[in-house]
Amino acid sequence: MSESTFKMVFAVGFVAGCVVRGICTARVARGRGKETEQPTAGRRARLEWLMMLVVSVGMFVLPLVYLLTPWLGFANYGLPDWLGVVVGPIGAAVFVFALWLLWRSHADLGTNFSVKLEIRQRHALVTEGVYGRIRHPMCAAHWLWAVAQLLLLHNWIAGPAFLVAFVPFYLRRAPYEEQMMLDNFGEEYGSYMGRTGRMVPRLGK
Ligand code: SAH
Repeated sequence: MSESTFKMVFAVGFVAGCVVRGICTARVARGRGKETEQPTAGRRARLEWLMMLVVSVGMFVLPLVYLLTPWLGFANYGLPDWLGVVVGPIGAAVFVFALWLLWRSHADLGTNFSVKLEIRQRHALVTEGVYGRIRHPMCAAHWLWAVAQLLLLHNWIAGPAFLVAFVPFYLRRAPYEEQMMLDNFGEEYGSYMGRTGRMVPRLGK
C-alpha cells in the first residue's frame, strides 16, 4: 500500500468517525429536550479539561495537520512493502471496529452520555448492549481509533499522538467515573462491576 492509500483509508475513517460522533451527540441533545436542570454532581476539574484539550490535539488537530499540510513532513517514515500489506488492512479493520463500537456505545448510553463527568437528574444506569460486556466501551472505541491512527499514519508525531494523549486521560478518568457511579448507584453499580470488565469482557460471562 502506498502512503497516499494509507492516508486515504485514515481520512475515510476519520470523517466517518466525526459523522458518527456528530449524529450521536446531536441525538443526545435532542433527547434531553428542554432538560435544563443543572447536573447534580458535576466534577469538572481544570486538569480534566486540560487533558481533554490534549486529547483533541492528538485526535483531531495533528492528524489534520499531517493530512492537509506539509508541516509534519520532517517526521514521516516509510514501511517496507511487505509490512505495509499487513499493517494497512489491520489498521482499517481496527478503525471499522472502533467506529462500530463508538456508534453502539452512544446508542446504548443514550441521553446518559456526557463529555465531562456528571450524573444527570434523570440518569439511568445502563447495563445492556455493549455496556453488558464492558464498563467503558466508548473509551475502548477511542483506544481502538488511536491504535488505527498509529497503524495508518506513518509519522512520528501524528501517528502516536492520540494514543499518547489518551493514556493519562483514561488512567485518571476511569477510576473517577467508577467512583462517581458507585456513589450514585451503590450496590447496583457494584454488582455491575462484578460481572463486567473495564475494557475487555470478562471471560466466561
Ligand atoms: N466511560 C464510559 C462512558 C463515557 S460518557 C464509556 O467509556 O463508555 C461519560 C458519562 O457516562 C459519565 O458522566 C457517566 O455519568 C455516564 N456513564 C458511564 N457509565 C454509565 C452506565 N453504565 N450507565 C449510565 N451512565 C453511565
